[in-house]
Amino acid sequence: MASSGAEPSIFSRIAAREIPATIVAETDHIIAFNDIAPQAPVHVVVTTKTQQYRNVGELAAGDPALLAELIAVAGRVAEEHCAGEYRLIFNTGASAGQTVFHVHAHVLGGTLEEGTLA
Ligand code: 5GP
Repeated sequence: MASSGAEPSIFSRIAAREIPATIVAETDHIIAFNDIAPQAPVHVVVTTKTQQYRNVGELAAGDPALLAELIAVAGRVAEEHCAGEYRLIFNTGASAGQTVFHVHAHVLGGTLEEGTLA
């Protein structure tokens, strides 16, 4: 379900430069920044600038080209920060660990702890 009428999410506020973050990549529609609580040596959140979609399934159904752009940005971030070797995680739903209901991927790279999950 779309959530465009909701209060701005924390990620919308980062995209609007209302909340500081270390931004590592940006396109017209996508923004990527370092996670505030990194779970790996490289931990970047890649998200849409608008919060129309709550999770990856909604984004895939509603705007597959935007999902492709998000994944492409994630790949470029990984090329730059961890030699193109990375995990891409979309937590979907509270019981799966999703805490921000504005679609985003975690790029995790570097030396991961056994069993680490974002
Ligand atoms: P989720 O748990 O929804 O999959 O991922 C949300 C992520 O956003 C978490 O890894 C959390 O650390 C990160 N996060 C939450 N608030 C902020 C913030 O204000 N700044 C940044 N850079 N990351 C945040």
